[in-house]
Amino acid sequence: MPKYDKSAKSDKPLYGHQAKKRFGQNFLSDDSIIANIVASIRPKANQHLVEIGPGQGAITASIIASGARLDVVELDNDLLPILKLHFGLKENFTLHHADALRFDYNALVDDEQPLRVVGNLPYNISTPLIFHLLEHCNNITDMHFMLQLEVVKRLAAQPDCKAYGRLTVMTQYYCDIEQLFIVPPTAFRPAPKVDSAIVRLVPHKQLPHVAKDVNLLEHVVSIAFQQRRKTLRNTLKKLCCEAFIVENGINPAARPENLTLAEYVTLANAIYDAKQQGRDITAP
Ligand code: SAH
Repeated sequence: MPKYDKSAKSDKPLYGHQAKKRFGQNFLSDDSIIANIVASIRPKANQHLVEIGPGQGAITASIIASGARLDVVELDNDLLPILKLHFGLKENFTLHHADALRFDYNALVDDEQPLRVVGNLPYNISTPLIFHLLEHCNNITDMHFMLQLEVVKRLAAQPDCKAYGRLTVMTQYYCDIEQLFIVPPTAFRPAPKVDSAIVRLVPHKQLPHVAKDVNLLEHVVSIAFQQRRKTLRNTLKKLCCEAFIVENGINPAARPENLTLAEYVTLANAIYDAKQQGRDITAP
């Protein structure tokens, strides 16, 4: 979660609303950045968008103006009157007072039109929220998010670097990921202490590597990264022995960050098959 820069002049409330840390509120206040974000999203009249955490409507207004159908999901009670005041009369706007982490996005799809999800996300819930949305991937065309730059780097990372981890592998399993541009703290009120960035996630129409059991893949990946500096022969000990790793064409002396998504899927599928066959793969 970003720390707040108490010296920033930008803490002044807008519309009398004092930003709340517990809701991760950093409101966008830079018009050119807002215009760049909307230009990256390119909403069109025949599309169906969902905005998570509209706040005081910084991005919301331009999306509504595009004529696209827009559903917004906002948790903070105090922001509802502001949103209703500005957009309540627009026909293409629907406000949901709900927790984005529990929201059923599939329920919004009522005309076979898939969703485009956008949001300057509350940073404290961005990782669980992305995992929640990945479960609705079949109904989502793309997602544009503002996140902490560090999280965007983790999403878009390639193997062999520090940023590459569980979040990278599981998100890239479902989506293509592209970092679009960096947004400085000065673009927000209040200003966070860290840089942010806009990221585009496009769910694969067809998964490039298919796990036989995605929960098992997630389990293997999370076990592997629990001790990221150890070799796979050690981190995976509970799941399988060194010989099994070798048998699947993977170097047991590699570290978790060296394995590609394809290799994680290969390994998880081999473990799945071995389980189906009742084969003991933990014994050397
Ligand atoms: N989009 C606005 C506000 C971003 S701040 C802007 O760019 O200015 C993050 C927003 O997410 C806030 O409005 C906050 O109240 C909202 N929020 C925080 N937690 C949420 C949750 N669990 N579900 C839905 N909205 C949430």
